[in-house]
Amino acid sequence: MRVLMIAPPGAGKGTQGALIAAHFDIPHIATGELLRDHVARRAPLGLAVQEYLGRGELVPDQVVLDMVREEMVAAKAAGGGFVLDGIPRNMPQTRAAYLIGRELGMTADVALHLQGDAELMRRLLARAALEHRSDDTAEVIARGLALYHEVTSPILSSYATAESWCRWMRCVPHIRSAAGSLRRPRCDASAAGSCARAGTGPR
Ligand code: AMP
Repeated sequence: MRVLMIAPPGAGKGTQGALIAAHFDIPHIATGELLRDHVARRAPLGLAVQEYLGRGELVPDQVVLDMVREEMVAAKAAGGGFVLDGIPRNMPQTRAAYLIGRELGMTADVALHLQGDAELMRRLLARAALEHRSDDTAEVIARGLALYHEVTSPILSSYATAESWCRWMRCVPHIRSAAGSLRRPRCDASAAGSCARAGTGPR
């Protein structure tokens, strides 16, 4: 099973990604986690990206793509399945990740769209500002949300076209149903809004 996760900040993508990976016994490739780990270890990659993470900005595409490529090669050696969580995050990454997947014979089976909860996000933002954990926290969350709407959510319409690099798109309104929705991957236009068979990859 090869799964792409797409979700706004605060939708529970990391938790669901880990559950799905455990359910299918496949690697959970979470780019945010991997990057934070590089930063915590003060690894060269971490030092190069920490400012982007601190501002809630996207790190340069090539950095994250090189990192993910390595993880996908390891996933191939481990059996070929994966949950990709946090990438692609914009259209250039969508195209590049598709090419990596195609080269490795590992294009995705399903794209899982977790819908965000606007009320939950509003409360998260309010709490971050109120608790003064750090004003940055609220800013970083807000920036992440803005970026999601600007550059990430347009990926969804590309997944719904024949040019998508995954076969199916699932739209999951309630996070608890995410793993269950993958038991029988099949086209479900009523749930997804629209979906289509894979074609030649995103343009
Ligand atoms: P996340 O845990 O997925 O919210 O990611 C945390 C941070 O890591 C983001 O705010 C970005 O700075 C960085 N990041 C994670 N994935 C990507 C990606 N695919 N492209 C660029 N930056 C990323």
